[in-house]
Amino acid sequence: MRILYAEDDDDLGYALGLMLEKLGYKADHAREGREADLMLRTQSYDLLILDWGLPYLDGIEVLRRLRARAQTLPVILLTAKDEVEDRVRGLDAGADDYLAKPFAMSELAARVRALLRRGNAGSALLQHAHLCLDTAARTAQLAGQPLALTAREFVLLERLLLQVGKVVSKRELVDRFSDWDHELGDNAIEVAIFRLRRKLQGAGIVITTVRSLGYRMEA
Ligand code: CA
Repeated sequence: MRILYAEDDDDLGYALGLMLEKLGYKADHAREGREADLMLRTQSYDLLILDWGLPYLDGIEVLRRLRARAQTLPVILLTAKDEVEDRVRGLDAGADDYLAKPFAMSELAARVRALLRRGNAGSALLQHAHLCLDTAARTAQLAGQPLALTAREFVLLERLLLQVGKVVSKRELVDRFSDWDHELGDNAIEVAIFRLRRKLQGAGIVITTVRSLGYRMEA
């Protein structure tokens, strides 16, 4: 397993290197964005830990270029920003996970392991009860049968499945859709949730409305 970590802060970069080495990974360090971009273009990595605020080329731009080349390695974005909007921007640009500074090394280590496990499975499968989402192929199955979903329903389900047991805010969902679906109101989300519930009826999958907050996929 080979990991690239792009971080311009010396202390954090050093700590990252030590942690990855301790976990038994081969790790390369890029200290600015252009260097990270070059290494990603010329070498093969299993995972990228990417600081948002990098000199010359920021993390989001490195990420956009990576995804534009159809490179699918998992990416954990590190950032001092912790606003929902920033998080959504990061996920939209193609990050698989997101960690706000300061964070505990043990938490990052756990997420690295989780993403590498997922990567090893071949594709990004999200499973819950009898529901299975292939986020690479953008297909869904319910109890082994293909489940027809609109693009909007797929994204909604994906967001909920990524955080089973946790509330996904309505705001985050509205922002998420508004990017590619023009202006969407709360109402559109409610309609999509209503349709999803109907499609998932009888499958033991429960999406709870958390009043004035958002929605939760029950564990
Ligand atoms: Ca930085």
